[in-house]
Amino acid sequence: MKSTAKTVAVDTQAQQDAARPASRLKVMHVQVQALQVWFHCPSCNAALEGYLSDPRGCSDITCDACGSEFDIPKAAELVIS
Ligand SMILES: [Zn+2]
Repeated sequence: MKSTAKTVAVDTQAQQDAARPASRLKVMHVQVQALQVWFHCPSCNAALEGYLSDPRGCSDITCDACGSEFDIPKAAELVIS
């Protein structure tokens, strides 16, 4: 039953979009200032923080806890909480 409700919600959104004129103003750039960035070491699972921006795409990161080296691919999931 949950999937039915979701389908209705999506259809409603599509109808609202179709009803808007093409000249409707849109914001296509949303900025988020991250105040706290952290991830967990893939070797020892220690929480590593102190990064001031998006660390995706960084390589040769050394874990402060166990000394393991690892990379964060650009495709890594970014969770905004
Ligand atoms: Zn570690």
